[in-house]
Amino acid sequence: MKLCRFQPQVVPSEKVGAASHPGVLQGVISGETVREVTGDLWGKWEVTSRSWPLAEVKLLPPVVPSKIVCLGRNYKEHAAEFNNPVPAQPLIFLKPPSSLLAPEDPILRPREVERVDYEGELAVIISRECSQLPDGADVKPYIGGYTCLNDISARDYQQLDKQWTRAKGFDTFCPLGPVLETEFDVAHGAIETLLNGVRKQYAPLTDMLFSIDVIIPWVSRVMTLLPGDVIATGTPSNVGPVKAGDVVEVVIPGIGSLRNPVLDRSA
Ligand code: ZN
Repeated sequence: MKLCRFQPQVVPSEKVGAASHPGVLQGVISGETVREVTGDLWGKWEVTSRSWPLAEVKLLPPVVPSKIVCLGRNYKEHAAEFNNPVPAQPLIFLKPPSSLLAPEDPILRPREVERVDYEGELAVIISRECSQLPDGADVKPYIGGYTCLNDISARDYQQLDKQWTRAKGFDTFCPLGPVLETEFDVAHGAIETLLNGVRKQYAPLTDMLFSIDVIIPWVSRVMTLLPGDVIATGTPSNVGPVKAGDVVEVVIPGIGSLRNPVLDRSA
């Protein structure tokens, strides 16, 4: 099932009562139709009678997280391409929720940065509060679904600062979406990143060094995970730079394609 957050672009008056101005809505996608749902996606919710053609809505990041936890160097070949050792335990950092970007919205390159890279990643969405899980715990009850994430990174600052808050934290540096897929099979999944339609990154998701079963308990013993929180599971090798005018796309068959153009931030 594909869940989404969206804003209708066209609102015929018969679809929405005058009193209920449609702000951000949540929906379930079937084919080319988005059916609005009400309630709590992590609790009780129901499908309403209102629907929109998919082409007439703007998709938003599918969740509003309290935090975005990211894995660094979670694919062996990616660690090697920057001459970094493979970590002995998960290496985590945070991206601020303010860096989130909707599908199709532009990634804004800071003007002073020389190299800004794409990093296509599978994101796991947490559905239930979780804390202090032991190793080997069943993580399934805590997973609400999966989506695509692009961990945009300003390499100049990553090297200069020694830690990654600035390099990974700019506004627009976390494209997320297009949908939350609740039934994705990670064991048989793969990820690819396209730059201007040309494949740059590709890996089966089983190439991760630390699997989702290991990551969730490990992170939960550092910080309490809340419904809607995002865990980005790291990027495969062959990351590379983007420039203004490029279009970058993270594709995970079974979930969808997260596509964003790139612009230089204006003065
Ligand atoms: Zn990353």
